[in-house]
Formats: sequence, C-alpha cells, structure tokens
Amino acid sequence: MLDYRAGKDLLINKTILVTGAGDGIGKAAAIEFAKFGATVILLGKTVKKLENVYDIIVNAGYPTPAIVPLDLKGATEQHYKDMADTIAEQFGHLDGLLHNASQLGALGPFEHIDLTSLEDIMKVNVTAQVLLTKALLPIMRKAPSGSIIFTSSGVGRQGKAYWGPYAFSKFATEGMMQVLAHECDGTSIRVNSINPGATRTEMRAKAYPGEDPMSLKAAEDIMPTYLFLMGEDSVNTNGAQLNAQ
Ligand code: NDP
Repeated sequence: MLDYRAGKDLLINKTILVTGAGDGIGKAAAIEFAKFGATVILLGKTVKKLENVYDIIVNAGYPTPAIVPLDLKGATEQHYKDMADTIAEQFGHLDGLLHNASQLGALGPFEHIDLTSLEDIMKVNVTAQVLLTKALLPIMRKAPSGSIIFTSSGVGRQGKAYWGPYAFSKFATEGMMQVLAHECDGTSIRVNSINPGATRTEMRAKAYPGEDPMSLKAAEDIMPTYLFLMGEDSVNTNGAQLNAQ
C-alpha cells in the first residue's frame, strides 16, 4: 500500500483518536492525520511526549489537537466511559480510532514466560483495546462513517519462536478485529488491521538490538496505508488485514 496517494483534504472535519500517539508509529500517524485535516486526540502514557506532538501539529498550522494522558495498563472501564463522554461533549462524534499503543515485553523461551508480564501485556495490548472500543462505539456510530484500525504484527499472523505474550496478544488483536468487523458489516463503521512491518522505532530497536536502524523504513514512510484506512477511499473495506509495507 506504499503507493497510495491521499487527496490533501482527505481527513478534513474528522476527529480521530490515536493511542500511543507520543512516539514511534503513533506519533507519525497523529501528525499525518492532522496534516490531512483531522483534529487528532492524542492518547498516551508520557505527557511530555504528547505535548511535543501537540506542539509539532500546532506549529505546522494543522487543526489544534487534544491530549488524553492515560496509562492503558491501569485504566478502568470507568476511565474509558468518562473519556467517551468528554469526546461526545467536545466533538459530538468520533470518526476514527487507531489502536496503536502496545507493549513488547520480554522475548524468550515459552517456559520463561512470567505471569505478571503476561498479564500486563494482555492488559495493554488486548483488554484496553476491548474497553476503549466498547466505550467509543456509540459515538463512532454518530459519525457519517467511522474507521477503526487495529495494529497487528507479523507475529500476530504467523507465530514465531520466542515472541511469547506479545505474539499471543497480536493474534488476539486480529481475532478482535475480525469479530468486530463481522458485527459491523453493512453499518457505517469499518474495522481493519495493519501490520506495520519492520519500522525504525524504539520497540523495534528493543526487539532487534543488533540491527542497523537506518536499514529500516521510518514511521513516516509507512503512512499511506494508515491514510487509506482512515479516509473515505476505504469506505468499502471491512475485515481486511493489510500490510503497510
Ligand atoms: P513504540 O514503543 O515506539 O511506541 C509505542 C507507543 O505506545 C508509545 O507512544 C508508548 O507511550 C505507547 N504506550 C505503550 N504502552 C502504553 C500504555 N500502557 N499506555 C499508554 N500508551 C502506551 O512502538 P512502535 O511505534 O514501534 O509500535 C506501534 C505499534 O506498531 C505497536 O502496536 C507495535 O506492536 C506495532 N508494530 C511495530 C513494528 C515495528 O517494527 N516498529 C512492527 C510490527 C508491529 P510511551 O512512549 O509514553 O511509553
């Protein structure tokens, strides 16, 4: 999908929430969505990083974003409900949701999987996505058309030795996408997943410490697929598993 070219007004008047918007792929996606006209809600853990993305967007003259500091590990169902109420009050509806934040955890043999780490990863990578989606669906139904994007991984489509809980969580993400996409068939909401592919970020460097980061695509390079799924060109795409590279 690297050759998709979006019209410059693709996301005008759209409100889009991006999780993990402070760094890596989420940061690039938030800035890209704003560049194409969207008002972006920046959700993430580290406030300083979110403020930096906010400044980049405002200084570029794009629509003023909103910041939601939230640690997905500790968030409760009530946090998500309150957030949905605030978005409804401020924006009326939500057009797009990019589930991007994830934790890698420790990689290693199956027998070394640690229960606490397993539960933490499933909470951030799976449970948080369920609760956030559940809370936001009612305000996404109010949008003329809504797009939900889940972020997968190569190891969420084909299991690989030593990838442990991170891989399990990505299979769960693909399953969640398919269940929800099927439920949304024929409605105004479409639900799809993206495998970003090897991308130069902190997470990738942690997984492959010996790799030359400059041999990888930058997060900015893989944005065409994100734009395609967020904009109206994908209005008939539902339940698809796309690759960004
Ligand atoms: P990064 O680790 O670079 O960025 C992850 C972002 O998620 C950060 O902004 C981080 O916030 C946020 N985040 C992590 N944990 C939480 C939490 N508990 N609560 C709120 N926010 C949180 O990852 P990438 O940009 O590389 O990855 C983005 C997505 O793409 C992930 O889903 C990843 O699995 C997937 N992916 C990435 C690939 C790659 O090669 N980079 C390949 C395949 C899939 P903070 O910085 O504040 O901690």
